[in-house]
Amino acid sequence: MNQPELVIIGGGPAGLAAAIAARKAGVENLLVLEREDHLGGILNQCIHNGFGLHTFGEELTGPEYAARYIRQARELGIPCFTGTTVLDLGEDKTLTALSPERGLFQLKPRAVILAMGCRERPRGALNIPGFRPAGVYTAGTAQRLVNLEGKMPGRRVVILGSGDIGLIMARRMTLEGAKVEAVAELLPYSGGLRRNIVQCLEDFDIPLLLSHTVVEIHGQRRVTGVTLAQVENGRPIPGTEQYYPCDTLLLSCGLLPENELSRQAGVKLSPVTGGPLVSEELETNIPGVFAAGNVLHVHDLVDYVSQEAAAAGENAAAWLEKTAPAGELLPITAENGVRYTVPAALDRARTGPVTLRFRVDRPYKKRAVVLRADGQVVLRRVRPALAPGEMETFTLKPDQAGACRRAGTVTLSLEEVSP
Ligand SMILES: Cc1cc2nc3c(=O)[nH]c(=O)nc-3n(C[C@H](O)[C@H](O)[C@H](O)COP(=O)(O)OP(=O)(O)OC[C@H]3O[C@@H](n4cnc5c(N)ncnc54)[C@H](O)[C@@H]3O)c2cc1C
Repeated sequence: MNQPELVIIGGGPAGLAAAIAARKAGVENLLVLEREDHLGGILNQCIHNGFGLHTFGEELTGPEYAARYIRQARELGIPCFTGTTVLDLGEDKTLTALSPERGLFQLKPRAVILAMGCRERPRGALNIPGFRPAGVYTAGTAQRLVNLEGKMPGRRVVILGSGDIGLIMARRMTLEGAKVEAVAELLPYSGGLRRNIVQCLEDFDIPLLLSHTVVEIHGQRRVTGVTLAQVENGRPIPGTEQYYPCDTLLLSCGLLPENELSRQAGVKLSPVTGGPLVSEELETNIPGVFAAGNVLHVHDLVDYVSQEAAAAGENAAAWLEKTAPAGELLPITAENGVRYTVPAALDRARTGPVTLRFRVDRPYKKRAVVLRADGQVVLRRVRPALAPGEMETFTLKPDQAGACRRAGTVTLSLEEVSP
């Protein structure tokens, strides 16, 4: 097999956008490896609309959005091996992959883009007491069963967790004829987008029970009900228990970036996002290994995944050409309500604009988001509201980015706004 210069692991929206951008930037010899039989990643099971407003100015379904990138990749003649799982990634970028067609094989590209997406937090990680009856699914598994396999997981449903997938599945199950009794959320706020709370719950009169959790799952062979209770400081409040009869419990309790391969390779991961710590070039601590999409940090909109991944593709191309040698890295400190930033560090050798993405740690009303270089304000934006479910994005102009790159310290924080 011809050794590719660049291998992209994952053929979801991130992997495809990265491959297309790299090819357009001149990388001829590249390869996408995808473990599923089809390209498009998780979007293939997201058949509702709402994708692509930023990128295409129209509302597409997940498969339609993915199809546009798959078509472009085909038009550009980008080779994609589907049904191919990458099993191992070494520090020297040696990849071991397996497919029924090619068996076990190794590649040694000069550069790699990690685009493996994320997975759902499973029940085992949630410590819900009770038996292990049938009828407990993650929301993503239920989405796959209903949308791809045409099977209904159940008829009477309780959902734990109000992330976007849980909200979307509340609507989907209702439209398919199931009764969704309630969506329970441990936190005092939803982790999903406001538009999804309105369109998926309020429009269908599905109750959202904030500060609630499942304290017991009933049923031995099949779920017969769950007990929900109110929660304070992370603990159920005795006496608030309420029984909900149901045959299905869907879990939508967070997404985890899929970084087993990254860890094997020695990529440094952020304890906050679970994704690689990357520079402005979206390069990890291993030179020539880049990351983008949900493997890097969980995104709210796929449009941002595509933008970020396209940048990773261009940066990988520049790295292969050695047109953009990396400079000294300057970490960005996220504080006072800002959970993290991507990138986590600026590159002193770079010029030009930089896009900063971040999330806040809880909902806030009217706060200024302030970027400081050596204590001096470089950018200040007042936001009427900020929510952890919504990713925030700033693009710093070249002069603002330059002021930061020359500084000794850079911080991003929330500050009170005087009334
Ligand atoms: C269950 C689920 C449902 C979602 N539903 C919605 C939704 O309804 N609306 C919405 O806006 N967003 C949704 N999202 C978010 C959505 O994932 C992102 O917007 C977007 O798909 C992320 O793109 P990605 O390419 O980073 O990841 P993905 O789309 O997850 O693509 C990653 C790809 O990498 C492949 N891969 C992983 N490991 C390997 C390996 N070792 N070897 C080879 N290939 C590998 C996977 O098979 C996959 O195709 C959902 C996410 C999940 C997990």
